[in-house]
Amino acid sequence: MPLIIVGSGIAGLTTALAAAPRQVCLLSRAPDSQDSASVLAQGGIAAAVGPNDSTCSHLFDTMRSGSFHNSKPAVRYLVEQAADALNWLGNQGVLFDREGDDFHLAREGGHEFARIAHAGGDASGRAFMQALVGKVKQASHIHWHSETDVDALLLRGNSIAGVRAKNKTGDTEIHEANDVVLATGGLGALFSATSNPPGAEGVGLALGLAAGAAVRDLEFIQFHPTALALGTNFQLPLLTEALRGAGAILRDEHGRAFMTGRHPMADLAPRDLVARVVWKILTKGGNTFLHAQHLGDAWPQRFPTVLASCLAHGIDPRLEPMPVTPAAHFHMGGLATNLDGRTTVPGLWAVGEVACNGVHGANRLASNSLLEGVTYGRRLAMRIKQENVSSNTCGTYCFAERGLETSPSVQHYWRQRLWQTLGPVRQATDIQKALAELQQFGKDIGWRQQLAICLLQAALHRRENLGAHWWAESVDIDKKFALNTH
Ligand SMILES: Cc1cc2nc3c(=O)[nH]c(=O)nc-3n(C[C@H](O)[C@H](O)[C@H](O)COP(=O)(O)OP(=O)(O)OC[C@H]3O[C@@H](n4cnc5c(N)ncnc54)[C@H](O)[C@@H]3O)c2cc1C
Repeated sequence: MPLIIVGSGIAGLTTALAAAPRQVCLLSRAPDSQDSASVLAQGGIAAAVGPNDSTCSHLFDTMRSGSFHNSKPAVRYLVEQAADALNWLGNQGVLFDREGDDFHLAREGGHEFARIAHAGGDASGRAFMQALVGKVKQASHIHWHSETDVDALLLRGNSIAGVRAKNKTGDTEIHEANDVVLATGGLGALFSATSNPPGAEGVGLALGLAAGAAVRDLEFIQFHPTALALGTNFQLPLLTEALRGAGAILRDEHGRAFMTGRHPMADLAPRDLVARVVWKILTKGGNTFLHAQHLGDAWPQRFPTVLASCLAHGIDPRLEPMPVTPAAHFHMGGLATNLDGRTTVPGLWAVGEVACNGVHGANRLASNSLLEGVTYGRRLAMRIKQENVSSNTCGTYCFAERGLETSPSVQHYWRQRLWQTLGPVRQATDIQKALAELQQFGKDIGWRQQLAICLLQAALHRRENLGAHWWAESVDIDKKFALNTH
């Protein structure tokens, strides 16, 4: 029986390629992975390969950004495999930007050293994915069904037995398998301001939950501090942190460099902190801008993606500052896995943003996500090749379905509510009100709203401020909870 992989972002494609010679049935939605977050990645992939850098330093920066909530063995594996991940990507045909024979390395928030390898300037994700998509299309062990939407897992007893999907003609298909890997990405699109593609709504998490898989750290949602502020738009272009690594400065409407003096790394402080500062200024009625005019002639070669997005919205970043807002960007939490990607449901595996092995702690370090997809995708593939490939199809199976669909207006409403209640700064009373509003519908509730309940409950359970999870009322928080528990 083939191995089923759901999702063709960097995590799914890496796992599929590394699983050879095992037969793989790869299921995903848009052709050529165009709907993935991976193609949108800008900055690149972190690896301690520069002069004076070390895996120890990369490990420490990852733990510090994650507020030391990270699983240290998971981080150690990530940083120790990073140089090999770059070589592996090179072997798949990725052409990294170089300075002579060496990688050109950029610096991003939370990193002590310049250690971000990139391709096509700030078009790293597109360049990486183009190479991987090409390799997957040539691979004889991979059968790729795109325009396919997986809407249920098959369970035989407590074990995975396959998936149910709708294909491009709208027909239902059953794919049986004893091992299913979820590589379905994150859930930023559940929020009304996001850098994520519109389909990043946590489908894999919903499927895993329906099958009874354990989850972890759901409250930790990363908000990127510098998305291009476009009024009421839902999906916002990202302004990569590498801009600040190249000297761009955040300023308010009075020209004040508001990160200076707030953290020793100033504009390059970890994302959670910068996002909160930007959020607070905006909620008090101020305005926040990223100034990068000094990059002048370097713009087209170094940041072509950001330049094109800004120009498309009538802003020329070579001549004027860019208005910025935080936006939901990355989910640190997800389906709980061990380092091999195994979930608590026999036969169900998870990798990439949908999974949580603890590597990112409470706040992901910049450019560690593509690295996670490559290192842990390869590790999962190695592990799964050692599994017994039995073809047990005895007994009937049942469906663990992701759940009910809702109307676009309901989805729009809850995106706004989640942005207000689970944004960079949270209030217990708001979360309790949102929960009460959702719970009154009982079981007649859409799957996105079910997920919202899980996120809200997880947030409510964590009473401390930690990483990306931050209370507005940090003083007397316990009193506030005591007042609102009945
Ligand atoms: C704008 C932006 C810039 C970023 N920049 C960087 C960066 O520079 N460096 C870095 O490390 N990280 C970056 N990140 C984060 C990183 O891109 C993502 O965390 C990572 O790409 C996630 O990879 P993935 O393979 O887990 O999921 P994705 O790349 O999102 O892929 C998910 C896949 O699952 C499929 N799928 C989902 N649901 C279903 C379903 N029901 N049925 C079938 N298929 C399904 C989709 O079709 C898609 O193929 C950035 C993110 C964004 C949004």
